[in-house]
Amino acid sequence: MISFREFVQAFRQAGLSSEHPVIVHASLSSVGEIRGGAETVLGALLSISRGVLAPTFTYKTMIVPEVGPEHNAMQYGTGKDQNRMAEFFRPDMPSDPLMGALPEAVRCHPNAHRSNHPILSFAGINLDDALQAQTIEDPFAPIGVLAAQGGLVLLIGVDHTVNTSLHYAERLAGRKQFVRWALTPQGVRECPGFSGCSDGFEQAAVEWAPFTRVAQVGGAAVRAIPLAPMLEAITSMIRRQPLALLCSKGAERCEEVARQEAARQEVAGLEVAGAAGATPVETPTAAPETQAVEMLEPKEMADMAPADDMPEIDENIEQDPAAETPPASKEARKTRPLPELHDYDETPGESN
Ligand SMILES: [Zn+2]
Repeated sequence: MISFREFVQAFRQAGLSSEHPVIVHASLSSVGEIRGGAETVLGALLSISRGVLAPTFTYKTMIVPEVGPEHNAMQYGTGKDQNRMAEFFRPDMPSDPLMGALPEAVRCHPNAHRSNHPILSFAGINLDDALQAQTIEDPFAPIGVLAAQGGLVLLIGVDHTVNTSLHYAERLAGRKQFVRWALTPQGVRECPGFSGCSDGFEQAAVEWAPFTRVAQVGGAAVRAIPLAPMLEAITSMIRRQPLALLCSKGAERCEEVARQEAARQEVAGLEVAGAAGATPVETPTAAPETQAVEMLEPKEMADMAPADDMPEIDENIEQDPAAETPPASKEARKTRPLPELHDYDETPGESN
């Protein structure tokens, strides 16, 4: 049984202190048997860090529309089954089971707040300023606030393929972002600023090795990386090598980034050669004016009655109001066709 004390010791060794807030990603099953489970790990984190942030993403709110913008790495009109099983976002919705047990422990902590992005919400303790920075267009903004505060990324038994903060670096570097859609009680919400695929993120571990501190707890490595230098290294890496960190699994979003880069280079080549008539190519545009995502106080969350008169929803979207919260079993969720899921921050094998 791994104890609270062992976690505190490992976290100290990894460089955590009361000066630094942390964003944490963990596969607790890789640690071994933990006395007190996820709450023990969170307690240890809170005892020595300035604040704790965790992604509490909710992929089951996602729907696939019939039509949408081009070059968005999405097969429109193919989400009939997924759309039927999609759930409306609620502030008290549990995070996706793939996120693991620790984000849920953060979300359920009495002092926690949660941002209300319908897909990419974060839960945090003592980090309200980071949570309030999130907007629907800039979903990873909390990472920027954490970086400015001397924050660390903490990986417990997981690698950089779950390191959400790297998505923020991709955005800073001007990499292609995507649009996704989520069911909310107010209707279908367009969510721009959606990240690319993270399957290739471990490739650049060498870039941040110099400032990574490593410790061990039970069967798991604990790695802590200061956010600011990591973001700087990765942003400049992507600017130098526009295809850096893409995976080779044929994932749609990685292929779209590569396609766009190839087109950009072709145009640049034509311009250099002085050739006329080059066709304009879509380039990443500046983020539109931001729209604040409100943060709910725990009390407000409790007060929020489920909306019984659902507003009209895009008629293109197949929906069944009666299925607002289908008690989909874990099994059903696993077998549900969600081709995007494997691309996000997973914590495989997490069960406790
Ligand atoms: Zn990929």
